[in-house]
Amino acid sequence: MKEEITYEAIKEVFTAYLHKKKLRKTPERYAILEKIYLSEAHFDAETLCSDMQTEYRVSLATVYNTIEIMLDCSLIVKHPFVGLTSKYEKTFGKTTHHHLICSKCGNVREFTDKKIQTMLKSKTFATFETTHYSLYLYGLCNKCKPQKKKSLKN
Ligand SMILES: [Zn+2]
Ligand SMILES: [Zn+2]
Repeated sequence: MKEEITYEAIKEVFTAYLHKKKLRKTPERYAILEKIYLSEAHFDAETLCSDMQTEYRVSLATVYNTIEIMLDCSLIVKHPFVGLTSKYEKTFGKTTHHHLICSKCGNVREFTDKKIQTMLKSKTFATFETTHYSLYLYGLCNKCKPQKKKSLKN
């Protein structure tokens, strides 16, 4: 279910939103938008900001500000992640997937499941139109799971 979406199309949505909200169309904001567009990963503001420094100098405040704008126009989503830093992910051009979140370290993994996908797709509501969905499973990753002590017997 991967949709091919061009950067131009994303840029149009973003530009229209900036225009509507009377926000400035700065090159910094577009640089951040492009960086997010090119990435497939979940990201947090600080890592994104430091990753960008070699190509384009942007301040952390601008990164946060642009993230807020992109959240508002639904180009990215904020995940209910555990831990200190909020993680985000682009909403466009990604295959429908679900998340496994470690409730101890906040580590996240993605998985896909055809059965869940088919099941949720067949669910329709008379007074609600579903556009997308996301599923979060919480638990402990391998690193955080208490290690079973190897028995010396046997
Ligand atoms: Zn963990
Ligand atoms: Zn994801």
